[in-house]
Amino acid sequence: MTTDCLFCRIVAGDIPATVVHETATTLAFRDINPVAPTHVLVVPRSHYENAAALAAGEPATAADLLTSASAIAEAEGLDGYRLVFNTGADAGQTVFHAHLHVIGGTTMGWPA
Ligand code: 5GP
Ligand code: ZN
Repeated sequence: MTTDCLFCRIVAGDIPATVVHETATTLAFRDINPVAPTHVLVVPRSHYENAAALAAGEPATAADLLTSASAIAEAEGLDGYRLVFNTGADAGQTVFHAHLHVIGGTTMGWPA
């Protein structure tokens, strides 16, 4: 737990969030500024700055994020969905606690 980390504080229950799924190692809650009808963030309960640090430090938990994402997509009834780890400021990462975006419920183009 890092007290100045927003997602650590959500995991601790100090800041409210709409939780949609949880496991022993992960917590998933709705993004406060959704970019699609379904926009859920899946975070490890432990603090890691980004996905690469999580994969190096707790590889099993990194896999758990993907398993949680699958369960969320099924619960939300998504036909197709996008999983995103923004890693680093150049990629648009703004919260430096690893998180997996689960985005769906609309038709998306690629790229962008
Ligand atoms: P990033 O840009 O770091 O990949 O994603 C951070 C995400 O966290 C953004 O999509 C942003 O909307 C979301 N976010 C920022 N503050 C809060 C908050 O207080 N609560 C929730 N639920 N989401 C937040
Ligand atoms: Zn944190």
